[in-house]
Amino acid sequence: MSKEVTVVMYHYVRDLKYSRYPEIKGLDVQLFKEQLEYILKHYNVVTMEELMEAKERNRDLPENALLLTFDDAYIDHYLNVFPILNDKGIQGTFFPPVKAITKHEVLDVNKIHFILASVGEKQMLIDEIFNIMDKYRDRYKLKDNEYYYKKYAIKNRFDTEEVVFIKRILQGGLPEKLRNEICDYLFRKYVSENESAFSRELYMNVDQLRCMKQNGMFIGVHGYDHYWLSTLDEEQQINEIELSMKFLQEVGESIDRWVVCYPYGDYDETLLKVIKGRGCTIGFTTEVAVANIERDYCLTLPRLDTNDLPKDRNAELRVIR
Ligand SMILES: [Zn+2]
Repeated sequence: MSKEVTVVMYHYVRDLKYSRYPEIKGLDVQLFKEQLEYILKHYNVVTMEELMEAKERNRDLPENALLLTFDDAYIDHYLNVFPILNDKGIQGTFFPPVKAITKHEVLDVNKIHFILASVGEKQMLIDEIFNIMDKYRDRYKLKDNEYYYKKYAIKNRFDTEEVVFIKRILQGGLPEKLRNEICDYLFRKYVSENESAFSRELYMNVDQLRCMKQNGMFIGVHGYDHYWLSTLDEEQQINEIELSMKFLQEVGESIDRWVVCYPYGDYDETLLKVIKGRGCTIGFTTEVAVANIERDYCLTLPRLDTNDLPKDRNAELRVIR
């Protein structure tokens, strides 16, 4: 018996090759199936209830415990993931961004994904962003373009420096109003002029979430506006959390004790106090490691990305620490 749990994080899970945006960074359904077979062979998939129970009562988890988590409530999860999990009799935990679902908007973070998937020439996008910044430099007291490029264009394990720059500058590098405006403009120009219809195609709706809950899946908090939560003051954080909790109730999830996954893995001490006082028992970040419910603080548990695990049912067990 053990205190360790491997938490795996998924985003898009779709039949990429035959989808409208084959360039989107996602996991192919076929590879998801392969990975799931690998997981079922080497791990014990636990439910969120079991994890909460183990934490609260200081119980052990089964050897090689693993928890499946799916961020952002994409329709992929309802159409492609839920039937497979249901078939296998295992649970997934799903984290919906409330505003995207109830107001039929597309999150900026997703607009950026689809802009990037629609435009091959990334330098062209950067030039367009710089042009807009030039226009607004005085109004928003921006520094020169060079400064931002140096600060944000740092390649990581998944993306080139150009892509990281576009993501970072549009997700948080610029003042919010200007970011929104640039995302809107590029999304309309390169992806779709009908944001509401696009949103309805991209995310699950309330009934689909409710259906998954009724069939044994677990729903957690992922914020209302999908903000970097540490950039908000306490009052705004409380608002984000309370709106999210209200939404949990709407889809039939309990709010006596609940779980959170921080958008972008971002949190601060104030937020931890806010959620602790409201019954949150487990929180997930995007820090990359196997979690240990005895050693780690349970409101900031690390997760692995799907790319950290093999996508082949016959692969040897890859031990990650
Ligand atoms: Zn998210």
